[in-house]
Amino acid sequence: MTERKTITPTHRYRNNDKLIGIGNEFWDMSERNGLAGIVADLDAGSGVLRATEGHEFIAEGHEFVNFSCCSYLDLDSHPEVIEGGIDAMRRYGVLDHCIARSRVQIPAMRELETSLGELFGAQVVCSIAASTATFGLLPLIASGHLGNGTRPLMIFDKNAHVSMAGLKPVCADETEVVTSRHHDLDFIEDMCKKYAKVAYVCDGSDSLGGYAPVKELAELQDKYGLLVYYDDSHSLSAYGERGVGYVRTHSPVQDERTITVVTLNKAFGTSGAAIVLDGQSKETLRVIERFGGALNYSQLLNTASVGASLASAQIHRTGELTTRQNRLYANIELFDSLVRTEQAGSTFPIRLVPMSDATVIEAGRRVIEAGFYVSPVFFPIVARGTAGLRVMMRADQTEQQIRDLCAVLVAAGAEAAVPLPGEAVL
Ligand SMILES: *Cc1c(COP(=O)(O)O)cnc(C)c1O
Repeated sequence: MTERKTITPTHRYRNNDKLIGIGNEFWDMSERNGLAGIVADLDAGSGVLRATEGHEFIAEGHEFVNFSCCSYLDLDSHPEVIEGGIDAMRRYGVLDHCIARSRVQIPAMRELETSLGELFGAQVVCSIAASTATFGLLPLIASGHLGNGTRPLMIFDKNAHVSMAGLKPVCADETEVVTSRHHDLDFIEDMCKKYAKVAYVCDGSDSLGGYAPVKELAELQDKYGLLVYYDDSHSLSAYGERGVGYVRTHSPVQDERTITVVTLNKAFGTSGAAIVLDGQSKETLRVIERFGGALNYSQLLNTASVGASLASAQIHRTGELTTRQNRLYANIELFDSLVRTEQAGSTFPIRLVPMSDATVIEAGRRVIEAGFYVSPVFFPIVARGTAGLRVMMRADQTEQQIRDLCAVLVAAGAEAAVPLPGEAVL
Protein backbone atom coordinates (compact mmCIF):
# COMPACT_ATOMS: atom_id res chain seq x y z
CA MET A 1 0.00 0.00 0.00
CA THR A 2 1.32 3.46 -0.84
CA GLU A 3 1.80 5.78 2.09
CA ARG A 4 -1.46 7.40 3.08
CA LYS A 5 -1.74 11.18 3.35
CA THR A 6 -1.84 13.15 6.56
CA ILE A 7 -3.32 16.63 6.64
CA THR A 8 -1.67 19.90 7.62
CA PRO A 9 -4.39 22.39 8.58
CA THR A 10 -4.23 26.09 7.66
CA HIS A 11 -5.61 27.31 11.01
CA ARG A 12 -6.47 30.69 9.58
CA TYR A 13 -9.38 31.19 11.95
CA ARG A 14 -9.40 28.43 14.53
CA ASN A 15 -7.10 25.88 16.13
CA ASN A 16 -8.53 23.07 18.24
CA ASP A 17 -5.08 21.78 19.25
CA LYS A 18 -4.48 25.12 20.93
CA LEU A 19 -8.03 25.58 22.21
CA ILE A 20 -8.35 22.14 23.78
CA GLY A 21 -4.71 21.98 24.84
CA ILE A 22 -5.09 25.20 26.80
CA GLY A 23 -8.72 24.88 27.82
CA ASN A 24 -8.59 21.33 29.11
CA GLU A 25 -5.80 22.17 31.55
CA PHE A 26 -8.01 24.91 33.00
CA TRP A 27 -11.09 22.70 33.25
CA ASP A 28 -9.20 19.75 34.73
CA MET A 29 -7.73 21.89 37.46
CA SER A 30 -11.13 23.50 38.20
CA GLU A 31 -12.80 20.08 38.37
CA ARG A 32 -10.11 18.55 40.60
CA ASN A 33 -10.77 21.35 43.05
CA GLY A 34 -14.54 20.91 43.14
CA LEU A 35 -15.16 24.10 41.14
CA ALA A 36 -16.45 22.49 37.95
CA GLY A 37 -18.36 19.36 37.08
CA ILE A 38 -20.73 20.00 40.00
CA VAL A 39 -24.13 18.30 39.99
CA ALA A 40 -26.68 19.86 42.33
CA ASP A 41 -30.45 20.13 42.85
CA LEU A 42 -31.93 23.62 42.79
CA ASP A 43 -34.54 24.65 45.33
CA ALA A 44 -36.21 27.26 43.14
CA GLY A 45 -37.96 28.87 46.10
CA SER A 46 -34.82 29.79 48.01
CA GLY A 47 -32.33 29.65 45.13
CA VAL A 48 -30.17 27.28 47.19
CA LEU A 49 -28.33 24.44 45.40
CA ARG A 50 -27.62 21.08 47.05
CA ALA A 51 -24.83 18.85 45.68
CA THR A 52 -26.21 15.46 44.66
CA GLU A 53 -22.81 13.88 44.11
CA GLY A 54 -19.92 13.87 46.53
CA HIS A 55 -16.40 15.05 45.72
CA GLU A 56 -13.03 15.07 47.48
CA PHE A 57 -13.74 18.62 48.69
CA ILE A 58 -17.49 19.03 48.35
CA ALA A 59 -19.62 16.53 50.27
CA GLU A 60 -22.90 15.19 48.91
CA GLY A 61 -25.67 17.39 50.29
CA HIS A 62 -23.42 20.48 50.55
CA GLU A 63 -25.56 23.60 50.12
CA PHE A 64 -24.50 26.73 48.32
CA VAL A 65 -25.94 29.87 46.72
CA ASN A 66 -25.06 30.41 43.08
CA PHE A 67 -23.27 33.70 42.51
CA SER A 68 -22.39 32.70 38.96
CA CYS A 69 -25.81 32.48 37.30
CA CYS A 70 -26.82 34.86 34.47
CA SER A 71 -30.52 35.00 35.39
CA TYR A 72 -29.86 38.51 36.73
CA LEU A 73 -33.51 39.32 37.49
CA ASP A 74 -34.44 35.85 38.78
CA LEU A 75 -37.27 35.65 36.28
CA ASP A 76 -36.38 32.02 35.46
CA SER A 77 -38.20 30.76 38.55
CA HIS A 78 -40.96 33.41 38.56
CA PRO A 79 -44.35 31.68 39.16
CA GLU A 80 -45.96 33.46 36.17
CA VAL A 81 -43.11 32.35 33.91
CA ILE A 82 -43.47 28.73 35.06
CA GLU A 83 -47.27 28.89 34.63
CA GLY A 84 -46.83 30.47 31.20
CA GLY A 85 -44.77 27.50 30.04
CA ILE A 86 -47.29 24.97 31.34
CA ASP A 87 -50.24 26.92 29.96
CA ALA A 88 -48.74 27.12 26.46
CA MET A 89 -48.10 23.37 26.44
CA ARG A 90 -51.79 22.79 27.20
CA ARG A 91 -52.97 25.48 24.79
CA TYR A 92 -50.99 24.18 21.81
CA GLY A 93 -51.13 20.52 22.86
CA VAL A 94 -47.65 19.79 21.57
CA LEU A 95 -44.06 20.70 22.51
CA ASP A 96 -42.92 21.08 18.92
CA HIS A 97 -44.25 20.07 15.51
CA CYS A 98 -41.15 18.89 13.69
CA ILE A 99 -40.99 20.53 10.25
CA ALA A 100 -39.12 23.50 8.75
CA ARG A 101 -41.05 26.68 9.59
CA SER A 102 -40.97 27.91 6.01
CA ARG A 103 -43.21 24.92 5.17
CA VAL A 104 -45.64 24.57 8.06
CA GLN A 105 -45.56 26.07 11.54
CA ILE A 106 -47.89 26.12 14.49
CA PRO A 107 -48.61 29.73 15.53
CA ALA A 108 -46.78 29.57 18.90
CA MET A 109 -43.49 31.19 17.93
CA ARG A 110 -45.25 33.79 15.79
CA GLU A 111 -47.28 34.75 18.84
CA LEU A 112 -44.03 35.39 20.71
CA GLU A 113 -42.46 37.26 17.78
CA THR A 114 -45.47 39.59 17.69
CA SER A 115 -45.30 40.15 21.45
CA LEU A 116 -41.55 40.84 21.49
CA GLY A 117 -41.90 43.00 18.39
CA GLU A 118 -44.37 45.16 20.26
CA LEU A 119 -42.18 45.17 23.39
CA PHE A 120 -39.02 46.27 21.56
CA GLY A 121 -40.76 48.35 18.88
CA ALA A 122 -39.04 46.26 16.20
CA GLN A 123 -39.33 43.33 13.80
CA VAL A 124 -38.47 40.17 15.73
CA VAL A 125 -37.49 36.70 14.52
CA CYS A 126 -37.00 34.07 17.22
CA SER A 127 -34.58 31.17 17.34
CA ILE A 128 -33.64 28.45 19.79
CA ALA A 129 -30.44 30.25 20.87
CA ALA A 130 -28.47 33.44 20.22
CA SER A 131 -25.62 31.34 18.84
CA THR A 132 -28.07 29.65 16.45
CA ALA A 133 -29.28 33.06 15.27
CA THR A 134 -25.69 34.19 14.69
CA PHE A 135 -24.94 30.95 12.85
CA GLY A 136 -27.81 31.79 10.53
CA LEU A 137 -27.31 35.52 10.09
CA LEU A 138 -23.58 36.20 9.75
CA PRO A 139 -23.15 34.16 6.54
CA LEU A 140 -26.14 36.04 5.04
CA ILE A 141 -24.47 39.33 5.95
CA ALA A 142 -21.18 38.07 4.46
CA SER A 143 -22.78 37.31 1.11
CA GLY A 144 -24.65 40.62 1.02
CA HIS A 145 -28.07 38.97 1.16
CA LEU A 146 -28.79 40.64 4.48
CA GLY A 147 -27.76 44.15 3.48
CA ASN A 148 -27.75 46.11 0.25
CA GLY A 149 -26.45 43.28 -1.97
CA THR A 150 -22.79 44.36 -1.79
CA ARG A 151 -20.49 41.88 -0.08
CA PRO A 152 -19.11 43.70 2.96
CA LEU A 153 -15.63 43.51 4.41
CA MET A 154 -16.46 41.81 7.71
CA ILE A 155 -14.65 43.18 10.73
CA PHE A 156 -14.91 40.98 13.81
CA ASP A 157 -14.04 42.70 17.06
CA LYS A 158 -11.17 40.90 18.78
CA ASN A 159 -13.37 40.35 21.84
CA ALA A 160 -16.48 39.23 19.95
CA HIS A 161 -18.16 36.37 21.84
CA VAL A 162 -17.09 32.93 20.64
CA SER A 163 -20.55 32.34 19.12
CA MET A 164 -19.68 35.10 16.62
CA ALA A 165 -15.91 34.54 16.29
CA GLY A 166 -16.57 30.89 15.47
CA LEU A 167 -18.30 31.98 12.25
CA LYS A 168 -15.18 33.61 10.77
CA PRO A 169 -14.21 30.64 8.57
CA VAL A 170 -17.78 30.35 7.27
CA CYS A 171 -18.01 34.08 6.48
CA ALA A 172 -14.55 33.98 4.92
CA ASP A 173 -15.89 31.57 2.32
CA GLU A 174 -18.34 34.29 1.25
CA THR A 175 -16.31 37.49 1.68
CA GLU A 176 -13.16 38.99 3.23
CA VAL A 177 -12.85 38.72 7.00
CA VAL A 178 -10.55 40.67 9.34
CA THR A 179 -10.22 40.96 13.11
CA SER A 180 -9.91 44.42 14.68
CA ARG A 181 -8.60 45.51 18.03
CA HIS A 182 -11.30 46.04 20.65
CA HIS A 183 -13.66 48.86 19.57
CA ASP A 184 -11.04 50.26 17.18
CA LEU A 185 -13.13 53.03 15.60
CA ASP A 186 -10.21 54.48 13.60
CA PHE A 187 -9.57 51.12 11.96
CA ILE A 188 -13.27 50.68 11.18
CA GLU A 189 -13.41 54.16 9.62
CA ASP A 190 -10.26 53.47 7.55
CA MET A 191 -11.88 50.30 6.22
CA CYS A 192 -15.11 52.21 5.49
CA LYS A 193 -13.06 54.59 3.31
CA LYS A 194 -11.48 51.68 1.45
CA TYR A 195 -14.37 49.26 0.99
CA ALA A 196 -17.72 49.87 -0.70
CA LYS A 197 -19.43 48.13 2.23
CA VAL A 198 -18.29 47.20 5.73
CA ALA A 199 -19.98 45.16 8.48
CA TYR A 200 -18.72 45.26 12.06
CA VAL A 201 -19.49 42.39 14.46
CA CYS A 202 -19.25 42.93 18.22
CA ASP A 203 -20.91 42.51 21.61
CA GLY A 204 -23.33 45.24 22.69
CA SER A 205 -22.38 44.60 26.29
CA ASP A 206 -19.19 42.76 27.19
CA SER A 207 -19.20 39.87 29.62
CA LEU A 208 -16.89 41.76 31.95
CA GLY A 209 -18.66 45.08 31.79
CA GLY A 210 -18.13 47.77 29.25
CA TYR A 211 -20.49 48.62 26.41
CA ALA A 212 -20.09 49.03 22.66
CA PRO A 213 -19.50 52.63 21.48
CA VAL A 214 -22.94 52.70 19.85
CA LYS A 215 -23.05 56.49 19.32
CA GLU A 216 -19.65 56.65 17.60
CA LEU A 217 -20.57 53.62 15.51
CA ALA A 218 -23.83 55.34 14.57
CA GLU A 219 -21.80 58.23 13.13
CA LEU A 220 -19.94 55.76 10.91
CA GLN A 221 -23.26 54.15 10.02
CA ASP A 222 -24.59 57.54 8.91
CA LYS A 223 -21.43 58.58 7.08
CA TYR A 224 -20.54 55.31 5.32
CA GLY A 225 -23.55 53.01 5.57
CA LEU A 226 -21.66 50.77 8.00
CA LEU A 227 -23.71 47.75 9.06
CA VAL A 228 -23.32 46.78 12.72
CA TYR A 229 -24.16 43.35 14.12
CA TYR A 230 -24.54 43.51 17.90
CA ASP A 231 -24.93 40.62 20.29
CA ASP A 232 -26.54 42.35 23.27
CA SER A 233 -27.34 39.16 25.19
CA HIS A 234 -25.82 40.40 28.43
CA SER A 235 -27.93 43.54 28.80
CA LEU A 236 -31.39 42.45 27.67
CA SER A 237 -33.93 42.87 30.50
CA ALA A 238 -31.28 43.99 33.00
CA TYR A 239 -30.86 47.34 31.26
CA GLY A 240 -33.16 50.03 29.91
CA GLU A 241 -36.82 50.84 29.84
CA ARG A 242 -38.91 47.66 29.48
CA GLY A 243 -35.54 45.86 29.48
CA VAL A 244 -34.73 46.70 25.86
CA GLY A 245 -31.02 46.44 26.57
CA TYR A 246 -28.06 48.74 26.01
CA VAL A 247 -27.97 48.91 22.21
CA ARG A 248 -31.65 49.76 21.74
CA THR A 249 -31.54 52.25 24.58
CA HIS A 250 -28.63 54.23 23.14
CA SER A 251 -28.15 53.55 19.43
CA PRO A 252 -29.62 56.37 17.36
CA VAL A 253 -29.55 54.17 14.23
CA GLN A 254 -32.51 51.82 14.36
CA ASP A 255 -33.02 50.78 10.78
CA GLU A 256 -31.71 48.10 8.43
CA ARG A 257 -28.08 49.10 9.23
CA THR A 258 -28.32 47.77 12.80
CA ILE A 259 -28.95 44.12 13.58
CA THR A 260 -29.14 43.00 17.19
CA VAL A 261 -29.36 39.50 18.56
CA VAL A 262 -30.21 38.75 22.20
CA THR A 263 -30.50 35.53 24.14
CA LEU A 264 -33.68 35.06 26.16
CA ASN A 265 -31.76 32.73 28.46
CA LYS A 266 -30.03 35.30 30.67
CA ALA A 267 -31.88 38.11 32.48
CA PHE A 268 -35.02 37.53 30.38
CA GLY A 269 -35.25 34.28 32.31
CA THR A 270 -36.55 31.83 29.73
CA SER A 271 -35.03 30.06 26.74
CA GLY A 272 -34.30 30.87 23.11
CA ALA A 273 -33.27 34.09 21.42
CA ALA A 274 -34.61 37.08 19.51
CA ILE A 275 -33.21 38.69 16.38
CA VAL A 276 -34.21 42.34 16.62
CA LEU A 277 -34.51 44.13 13.28
CA ASP A 278 -35.85 47.37 11.87
CA GLY A 279 -36.92 48.37 8.40
CA GLN A 280 -36.25 44.99 6.76
CA SER A 281 -38.37 44.16 3.73
CA LYS A 282 -40.68 41.18 3.63
CA GLU A 283 -38.34 39.60 1.06
CA THR A 284 -35.34 39.91 3.38
CA LEU A 285 -37.31 38.45 6.28
CA ARG A 286 -38.21 35.52 4.00
CA VAL A 287 -34.52 35.04 3.10
CA ILE A 288 -33.62 34.97 6.80
CA GLU A 289 -36.37 32.45 7.49
CA ARG A 290 -35.49 30.23 4.52
CA PHE A 291 -31.70 30.44 4.42
CA GLY A 292 -30.71 31.32 7.98
CA GLY A 293 -29.25 27.88 8.68
CA ALA A 294 -30.75 26.35 11.80
CA LEU A 295 -33.49 29.01 11.82
CA ASN A 296 -35.12 26.82 9.20
CA TYR A 297 -34.12 23.38 10.39
CA SER A 298 -36.76 21.30 12.10
CA GLN A 299 -36.57 22.84 15.55
CA LEU A 300 -38.41 26.00 16.54
CA LEU A 301 -38.55 27.51 19.97
CA ASN A 302 -40.79 24.94 21.66
CA THR A 303 -44.20 25.86 23.06
CA ALA A 304 -43.09 25.66 26.72
CA SER A 305 -40.32 28.18 25.99
CA VAL A 306 -42.75 30.33 24.01
CA GLY A 307 -45.28 30.34 26.86
CA ALA A 308 -42.63 31.14 29.47
CA SER A 309 -41.30 33.93 27.23
CA LEU A 310 -44.78 35.41 26.68
CA ALA A 311 -45.15 35.57 30.47
CA SER A 312 -41.73 37.16 30.89
CA ALA A 313 -42.54 39.69 28.15
CA GLN A 314 -45.72 40.52 30.07
CA ILE A 315 -43.68 41.19 33.22
CA HIS A 316 -41.43 43.44 31.12
CA ARG A 317 -44.47 45.63 30.44
CA THR A 318 -45.18 46.23 34.13
CA GLY A 319 -43.56 48.12 36.98
CA GLU A 320 -42.30 44.80 38.33
CA LEU A 321 -39.49 44.87 35.80
CA THR A 322 -38.24 48.22 37.12
CA THR A 323 -38.57 46.96 40.69
CA ARG A 324 -36.44 43.92 39.84
CA GLN A 325 -33.88 46.01 37.94
CA ASN A 326 -33.61 48.34 40.94
CA ARG A 327 -33.18 45.42 43.35
CA LEU A 328 -30.41 44.11 41.10
CA TYR A 329 -28.72 47.54 41.01
CA ALA A 330 -29.00 47.87 44.81
CA ASN A 331 -27.37 44.44 45.23
CA ILE A 332 -24.59 45.43 42.84
CA GLU A 333 -24.06 48.65 44.79
CA LEU A 334 -23.89 46.78 48.07
CA PHE A 335 -21.31 44.42 46.60
CA ASP A 336 -19.28 47.37 45.30
CA SER A 337 -19.31 48.96 48.74
CA LEU A 338 -17.67 45.84 50.18
CA VAL A 339 -15.24 44.43 47.59
CA ARG A 340 -13.05 46.36 45.19
CA THR A 341 -13.19 45.48 41.49
CA GLU A 342 -12.43 47.37 38.30
CA GLN A 343 -16.11 47.14 37.35
CA ALA A 344 -17.29 48.99 40.48
CA GLY A 345 -19.83 51.71 39.80
CA SER A 346 -21.45 50.23 36.68
CA THR A 347 -24.94 48.74 36.53
CA PHE A 348 -23.54 45.70 34.75
CA PRO A 349 -24.13 42.63 36.96
CA ILE A 350 -20.75 40.89 36.58
CA ARG A 351 -17.70 41.58 38.72
CA LEU A 352 -14.20 40.08 38.46
CA VAL A 353 -12.53 39.94 41.85
CA PRO A 354 -8.80 39.98 41.07
CA MET A 355 -6.64 37.18 42.52
CA SER A 356 -3.22 35.83 41.65
CA ASP A 357 -2.91 32.67 39.52
CA ALA A 358 -1.42 30.98 42.56
CA THR A 359 -4.31 31.78 44.92
CA VAL A 360 -7.45 31.87 42.79
CA ILE A 361 -8.28 28.14 42.94
CA GLU A 362 -7.79 27.97 46.69
CA ALA A 363 -9.92 31.12 47.08
CA GLY A 364 -12.69 29.61 44.93
CA ARG A 365 -12.62 26.51 47.10
CA ARG A 366 -12.91 28.50 50.31
CA VAL A 367 -15.89 30.35 48.85
CA ILE A 368 -17.82 27.19 47.90
CA GLU A 369 -16.98 25.58 51.24
CA ALA A 370 -18.50 28.67 52.87
CA GLY A 371 -21.70 28.13 50.84
CA PHE A 372 -21.34 30.28 47.72
CA TYR A 373 -20.37 29.41 44.17
CA VAL A 374 -18.34 31.89 42.11
CA SER A 375 -16.43 30.81 39.00
CA PRO A 376 -12.66 31.09 39.00
CA VAL A 377 -10.91 32.19 35.79
CA PHE A 378 -7.15 31.87 35.56
CA PHE A 379 -4.21 31.11 33.28
CA PRO A 380 -4.20 29.51 30.76
CA ILE A 381 -7.83 30.43 30.01
CA VAL A 382 -7.06 34.14 30.60
CA ALA A 383 -3.68 35.92 30.43
CA ARG A 384 -1.31 35.66 33.39
CA GLY A 385 -1.98 38.42 35.89
CA THR A 386 -5.70 38.68 35.04
CA ALA A 387 -6.99 35.78 37.14
CA GLY A 388 -9.93 36.25 39.43
CA LEU A 389 -13.25 35.06 40.76
CA ARG A 390 -16.20 35.99 38.56
CA VAL A 391 -19.21 37.05 40.59
CA MET A 392 -22.67 37.52 39.09
CA MET A 393 -25.27 39.51 40.95
CA ARG A 394 -29.00 38.83 40.89
CA ALA A 395 -32.11 40.64 42.07
CA ASP A 396 -33.14 37.97 44.59
CA GLN A 397 -29.85 37.63 46.45
CA THR A 398 -30.42 38.80 50.01
CA GLU A 399 -28.40 41.48 51.77
CA GLN A 400 -27.16 38.85 54.23
CA GLN A 401 -26.00 36.55 51.43
CA ILE A 402 -24.11 39.39 49.77
CA ARG A 403 -22.49 40.54 53.02
CA ASP A 404 -21.50 36.96 53.89
CA LEU A 405 -20.08 36.31 50.43
CA CYS A 406 -18.06 39.53 50.53
CA ALA A 407 -16.66 38.66 53.98
CA VAL A 408 -15.51 35.27 52.62
CA LEU A 409 -14.04 36.91 49.51
CA VAL A 410 -12.03 39.38 51.60
CA ALA A 411 -10.86 36.60 53.93
CA ALA A 412 -9.81 34.64 50.82
CA GLY A 413 -7.65 37.49 49.55
CA ALA A 414 -9.96 39.99 47.83
CA GLU A 415 -9.30 43.65 48.40
CA ALA A 416 -11.99 45.32 50.49
CA ALA A 417 -13.56 48.45 49.03
CA VAL A 418 -12.50 51.69 50.67
CA PRO A 419 -14.95 52.20 53.53
CA LEU A 420 -17.01 55.38 53.58
CA PRO A 421 -16.03 57.85 56.32
CA GLY A 422 -17.28 56.55 59.66
CA GLU A 423 -17.97 53.07 58.23
CA ALA A 424 -16.28 50.06 59.73
CA VAL A 425 -13.85 48.12 57.57
CA LEU A 426 -15.36 44.75 56.79
C1 LIG B 1 -24.55 33.93 26.79
C2 LIG B 1 -24.20 34.49 25.47
C3 LIG B 1 -24.52 33.81 24.28
C4 LIG B 1 -25.13 32.44 24.30
O1 LIG B 1 -26.50 32.55 24.10
P1 LIG B 1 -27.30 31.24 23.62
O2 LIG B 1 -28.70 31.71 23.51
O3 LIG B 1 -27.09 30.22 24.67
O4 LIG B 1 -26.69 30.82 22.33
C5 LIG B 1 -24.24 34.40 23.09
N1 LIG B 1 -23.65 35.62 23.04
C6 LIG B 1 -23.32 36.30 24.14
C7 LIG B 1 -22.69 37.64 24.03
C8 LIG B 1 -23.58 35.76 25.40
O5 LIG B 1 -23.24 36.43 26.49
